[in-house]
Order: sequence, then C-alpha cells, then structure tokens
Amino acid sequence: AAKQRGKNNFVLFEPGLRATAVERNELEYELRKAIHSDALSLHFQPKVESAGLSLSGVEALLRWSHPIRGMVPPGKFIPIAEHAGLMPELGAAVLTLALRQCRAWVDQGKQIPIAVNVSPAQFDDPLFAPNLIALLTQHGVDPSLIEVEITETMVMTDFDAAAARVAALRDAGLRISVDDFGVGFSNLSQLAKLPVNFLKIDRSLTEAVSFDPKAQAIVRATINMAHALGHATIAEGIETDEQAAFLRLAGCDMMQGFLFARPMPAHEFEKWLAAREDVGLKSQGIRSEKA
Ligand code: C2E
Ligand code: MG
Ligand code: MG
Ligand code: MG
Repeated sequence: AAKQRGKNNFVLFEPGLRATAVERNELEYELRKAIHSDALSLHFQPKVESAGLSLSGVEALLRWSHPIRGMVPPGKFIPIAEHAGLMPELGAAVLTLALRQCRAWVDQGKQIPIAVNVSPAQFDDPLFAPNLIALLTQHGVDPSLIEVEITETMVMTDFDAAAARVAALRDAGLRISVDDFGVGFSNLSQLAKLPVNFLKIDRSLTEAVSFDPKAQAIVRATINMAHALGHATIAEGIETDEQAAFLRLAGCDMMQGFLFARPMPAHEFEKWLAAREDVGLKSQGIRSEKA
C-alpha cells in the first residue's frame, strides 16, 4: 500500500513500516544464503490411522534455524520466499531433503510415506512433475512413498493444467492430497474430477468441532463426500481427545495433531517411533494401503 502511494511518500519513513521493510530485506538476503546451507531442515509430524493409531506416514514441515533469530516459522519466511521469487529454489531444496530422508529410512528397513507441501509457484511449473519423477529415480525412492500436498487455490486458475499435472504424478505412482480443505470456497465439481488420494480437513474446522455444531455438520459432510468421491480423509490439528473422538466417529480415516505428536527432527521422530514399537502400538506395519 505504501508503494502505491508513491516512492517519496512519508509513509515509507514511518518507523514501524520501515522496520518491517528492513526486516523483510534482511530475511530475504539471509534466506538466499540459507537455501544452500544446512540452516534449512525438515521436521516430521506423524499421521496416524484413526482405527488403531498405527503410523500411516509423516508430513515434512520446513524449518529455518537462524543463527540469531532462532527458529523462524514457515509462516514467516515462506511468504518472503514467495515474494522474492525464491519458492522454486526453496521447494526444490525441500524435495531433495525429503527424498534423502525417505531413502535413509528405507535403508534402515522403514517404509515411511512422507508428505511434502508444495507451493503455487512450484506446482505451476510445467516441469514440476517430470523433475520430481526424475529426482525419485535419482534418489532411488519408490514414488508411492511420496505424497504431494497441494491446496484448493492451486488448481483454481487453470484447472485443466493442474488436473493434468495431478494425473501425471498419480500415473507415476505418487500420492496427492488436498491440504487445508474446507476453508477455501471449493469448486466441488472440479474436485470430483481431480484424481487425488486424500483430503486434509483444515485445522480451523477440526478446532471448531469442539464448540460449533455447524462445523460438526461440515466435517461430517466433507468426510462423506470425500469417501463418495473415493478419497481418504485426514484431519489436521487434532489437539484434544474430544476432537479425536468426534472425527473417529465421523469416519475420518487418519489424524494428525499435537495430541499424537508435534513435528520433530528425524532423529527424535525415530525415537518416538521406536518407543511406540516397544509398547506394541505398531499394528500391521508402517505403510498405509488406504488409497
Ligand atoms: P500445513 O501444511 O497445513 O501444516 C500444518 C501446520 O499445522 C504445521 O505448521 C504444523 O506444525 C501445525 N500443526 C500440526 N498439528 C497441530 C496442532 O495440533 N495444533 C496446532 N496449533 N498446529 C498444528 P508449520 O510447520 O508452522 O507450517 C505452517 C505452514 O507452512 C504449513 O501448513 C504449510 O502451508 C507451510 N509449509 C511448511 N513447510 C513447507 C514446505 O516445505 N513447503 C511449502 N511450500 N510450504 C510449507
Ligand atoms: Mg500440509
Ligand atoms: Mg495442512
Ligand atoms: Mg492447515
């Protein structure tokens, strides 16, 4: 807005805004350097089956450990990366980290599906699918171990192109989910034509089932619709037993949230997994054959 009002406008020199602009520039500069350093890493949050609570996979969540600022949350630096046109590069770095980890687990005898968040700028690239498929070969990773999380808005501008991309990834054996479902205004007839595996019910809906009967109705309807369309469902952001009980009763297939586990670095996740295996919570193995 300040920009629109003209370069010489006093608004630019208002202390608060100036600090923000300086901070953004600083973060952008540092992010450019961080992309190819080990300051960027992935944390992994378990997803569990609603029935039996066995592990169905993990979601990879990007972390930036800044030497002075500490952990910068993705909500803060991803918008900066987007604005600076760094998302394709950052996204490629995330894919490499995820595939490396996936392969390391396979080498340890663990087949753990990893879900990776993909940004609009990444997904819009016509080379996204072929590059990812090549990367899988390069790392020797089974495509069925990688799940790509897209959002509703990413298929809205050019549905046909997006659907073709989803189909190409599916044909190659990858899994696809629609993340943050239920907060955008979905075009449901388009959704029906999109060959995705999973719908992830947004945290705001999961949260609201504890106190809002309308949210309960939306969640039940979403799960039924997803199943009718052949998609499995995952509820994100589960924090309470009450929410988990509601979602299980509503037929939600999988759950993810602080109630089960927080996102963790790989070594911590491995300990978490080992502890569960010790108490015999692991059921028929790690792989989910749901979709
Ligand atoms: P998302 O994909 O919807 O990821 C779920 C977010 O909810 C994560 O936040 C996770 O830590 C948080 N979460 C999980 N369970 C709970 C819970 O029970 N309660 C609460 N309050 N929060 C919970 P995080 O890691 O800060 O990531 C935020 C968003 O940043 C992600 O939302 C995703 O949109 C984006 N993001 C993260 N990593 C990447 C990445 O590698 N690439 C891209 N393009 N985006 C990413
Ligand atoms: Mg996600
Ligand atoms: Mg999500
Ligand atoms: Mg979300």
